[in-house]
Amino acid sequence: MYRVLYRKWRPQTFSDVIGQPQVTKALSCQIKENRLSHAYLFTGSRGTGKTSCAKIFAKAVNCLHPVNGDPCNECEICRGIDDGTVLDIVEIDAASNRGVDDIRQLREEVKFTPSQAKFRVYIVDEVHMLTIEAFNALLKTLEEPPEHVKFILATTEVQKLPSTILSRCQRYDFRRIEPEVIAERLQRIADAEGAPLESDAAILVARLADGAMRDALSLLDRCLSTAEPPLTVQTVTQAAGLMGRDYLFSLCRTIANRDTAAALTILDDLHKASCDTERLCTELINQFRNLLIVHTVQHPEKLIVATNEEIAENKKLAAMFTTEAILRALSVLSDAVDAIKKTQNRRVEAEMALIRLCRPETDTSVAALTQRVADLEAALQNIKANGVSVAPQTVAAAPVQQKPSAPAKPAVTQPVQEDLPFEPDEPSLPFDDAAAPDFDDDDIPPFDPDSLWDSTPPAEPMPFDEAPLPFDEEEAPPFAAEDLPFAEEAPPFDADEPLPFDKNEPLPFDSDEPVAPVPTKPAPAAPVAPPAPPAPPAPAARNDTAAGGPIDERTWTRCCIEAEAICKPLIGHLNGTTASIQGSFVVIKSQHALLATLLRMPDFAKAISKATEKIIGRSLTPKVE
Ligand SMILES: [Zn+2]
Repeated sequence: MYRVLYRKWRPQTFSDVIGQPQVTKALSCQIKENRLSHAYLFTGSRGTGKTSCAKIFAKAVNCLHPVNGDPCNECEICRGIDDGTVLDIVEIDAASNRGVDDIRQLREEVKFTPSQAKFRVYIVDEVHMLTIEAFNALLKTLEEPPEHVKFILATTEVQKLPSTILSRCQRYDFRRIEPEVIAERLQRIADAEGAPLESDAAILVARLADGAMRDALSLLDRCLSTAEPPLTVQTVTQAAGLMGRDYLFSLCRTIANRDTAAALTILDDLHKASCDTERLCTELINQFRNLLIVHTVQHPEKLIVATNEEIAENKKLAAMFTTEAILRALSVLSDAVDAIKKTQNRRVEAEMALIRLCRPETDTSVAALTQRVADLEAALQNIKANGVSVAPQTVAAAPVQQKPSAPAKPAVTQPVQEDLPFEPDEPSLPFDDAAAPDFDDDDIPPFDPDSLWDSTPPAEPMPFDEAPLPFDEEEAPPFAAEDLPFAEEAPPFDADEPLPFDKNEPLPFDSDEPVAPVPTKPAPAAPVAPPAPPAPPAPAARNDTAAGGPIDERTWTRCCIEAEAICKPLIGHLNGTTASIQGSFVVIKSQHALLATLLRMPDFAKAISKATEKIIGRSLTPKVE
């Protein structure tokens, strides 16, 4: 007869139990030294080995030849307990025997001495299911049980037990078993069963089991019954009713791209393939948790159970999200899982969640607004680092209107780095930018928009105020529009008529030709500051710093912004720093000791070097002082 794996491979000794050394060591020690308590409480999530340990304990305390606190599994008592002929080990399922009468009956029973074994052991499973009356009835027995009785209470929900019960038991907490530990055990069992299990497949089973060895073995059973060995990731995927992990990556990608239609199509495909909606949302939550870990931890391998390819894919995906966006996704999906549990129309809940994720602007929750603010900040930082790029055709079609209230300064100081028709360093330029005076935008007087619009006359009298006019207004002949020579000749303007020239045709002059030097004229006195000279600030900064010495504050700030854009975890760490160039190094002065630690990591140091290369024109190695 076929025995399911988890029964067949149930641990027979404490040393067989995996993942719970803290429990098994303590229990076998107690048995070896004969320091037994009369009541034990085993807590922990399902499938972590509570019942197995209880049975090993029951055998070990009664075994005729115990070995180092473990049962021998060979004596008549051990074998009798295994095949159920020794009746002194009593398993009670509190879920179905939860009333006060059941416990009263138990109280009567415990008075009798055991028939064959030394101790009568009561294993009460799911003890949190007992009624209050039943607990109270049990309490008296737990307090003063007969010498020959041991109690082992097991529960997944220890918080539901009255404190009076807790205080009378010796408590052992069973942990979720590490996926690697489960995977290793699975591979050994699979080998013994003659069905080799690929390591990726073992990890996948372990992850799906979520720390429960029993669930892992049940799934392995299902794999064995559906496919021929060796067992692969695909076998596991099919047996577990998963669609492979690819759909999770695709969904994340559509969410990052805000492609609602694609997201809903994937959901529809999954729905047709009978994928459970709640499970899908739970898997997505897991997926976004993985992205969060990848986003924030340098070596995510230890915290994520995934194959190497999956981790690489996760790293790519994580770069498409801000942390805020991932946190919002987690919150939207958790809400969806809660809602799915309560509703009949599970699919609609999943669809709503996907739409919310793809379109944060439709969501007014704090999480959505936080994400949008973060997106804006990222965009702003990009503008700060790279300047505003304006597509040339946009300029031709609609000149940007300068509002009177708009400060003029940023327009002047933000160098347009993209779309420049010439390289700033190009030798064909008719002027020598080394000879040009250093451009400092602080020298420009602040632009006062009111000066353009002020209609009040100047306080000082105009020099010609009093002078007599050279002609007499009275004598001038009356003006008539008809008298103008071209009055009738101008044809009415028709916007639909073709223009007399082809705007797509190249201009009559060659823009690549060197421009003739323009003689510098003294600027005429004007109420508004003259437009800034066209000296590009980047080469100016280059001149400042090429020889070494301190980097001016503005250039360094631009380097910092650039470095932070390349390497997000640097954000904030460069605040308040100053820098100078020494040979091939950029020496950064910082108040925070952490910066030095960060810059010892290659990625962080590389970001600084790249930033200096872009802004200053030299790739410099960072040093912290
Ligand atoms: Zn034995």
